[in-house]
Amino acid sequence: MRKSLLIIFFQCFLLGHNGKTNRIIEFPNIPGFKTLVCDLHMHTVFSDGSVWPNIRVMEANKDGLDVIATTEHLEYLSWKSDIPHPDRNRSYELAKSFAVNSDLLVINGSEITREMPPGHANAIFIKDANKLIKEDPIDCFLEARKQDAFIFWNHPHWASQSPDASVPLNQLHIEMINNGLIEGIEIVNDTTYSNEAFQLALDFNLTILGTSDIHDIIDWQYRIPSGGHRPVTLVFAREKNESSVKKALREGRTVVWFNKKLIGKNENLLPLINNSLKVTSAKYIKNTSIVHMIISNNSDAPYTVRNQSEFDFYNQTNLITIPPHGDAVLDVRTLTKKRKFELKFEILNALIEPDKHPLLRLIVRPEQ
Ligand code: ZN
Repeated sequence: MRKSLLIIFFQCFLLGHNGKTNRIIEFPNIPGFKTLVCDLHMHTVFSDGSVWPNIRVMEANKDGLDVIATTEHLEYLSWKSDIPHPDRNRSYELAKSFAVNSDLLVINGSEITREMPPGHANAIFIKDANKLIKEDPIDCFLEARKQDAFIFWNHPHWASQSPDASVPLNQLHIEMINNGLIEGIEIVNDTTYSNEAFQLALDFNLTILGTSDIHDIIDWQYRIPSGGHRPVTLVFAREKNESSVKKALREGRTVVWFNKKLIGKNENLLPLINNSLKVTSAKYIKNTSIVHMIISNNSDAPYTVRNQSEFDFYNQTNLITIPPHGDAVLDVRTLTKKRKFELKFEILNALIEPDKHPLLRLIVRPEQ
């Protein structure tokens, strides 16, 4: 008897109040596209990281990632004398071989590691990293372009290259953007975020990315046992394969998941929020003009929303929390009985511009 009570208690403890038991990063698909969870920037002992590539694969599988890119520094190899590796594709090849029995897609990439400008960039979907070793940084970008890589500017706000963490946009960067040598930009790198990089992505129509740039251990860096998560890029792709992911990146179909916040262009963010939050029941309370309704959240995002509707609530303030994989109960005062009505919410934990939240409209059709 005591044992079974203990088991029940333990199960309740594990489940919490929202029913999610694991660290897997979960977001719903959106109409026409699969939502792929991607971390496209990471290191191993093959440049300046602390682990062998199998650990990166195991971490990715624990987090339920769909896609990773191996992105060792081309020009900076900390353990070169201990671990010589003339073939710069080895990290990718090893990671790919370790991922063979899982659903994880591994992409070959390299980090171009130069002084500012141009600074650091990742070239992913490359065919041969060895050919990217060049004296002149622009030759390196051109070779990546020749291999039809997708190239993005890494941590443009990195304090080691920009002490006030501003984005040191240079004429060279603008030319590179105009010539397709920079197609995306990290607005989130590891534990850092940049409003300026986000604005730059919007101004120059660059693809928005967030990456871990992990060198050590994901669990320690992001406090996974305490409920943390690594930053990832959610990529909206037709299929889970290299060419679909590349196309989605080229077309800018991404949202960044960082510190329990969602960041992206409205056209990408709104469908994701729309598919995360559903009205799962709505019914007038007997002899009242109050609709008792439930909004369910099938994503990892803890939504905090501000009411912008013409109605208010009998059981809630205008600031409402919809927990991840959980529900919010709303008693809506519609004043007269309605066959349908609209609720409008500003989504405070999501950003479509550095200072702007998306607006969600929910149509409610209550049972009479
Ligand atoms: Zn890096």
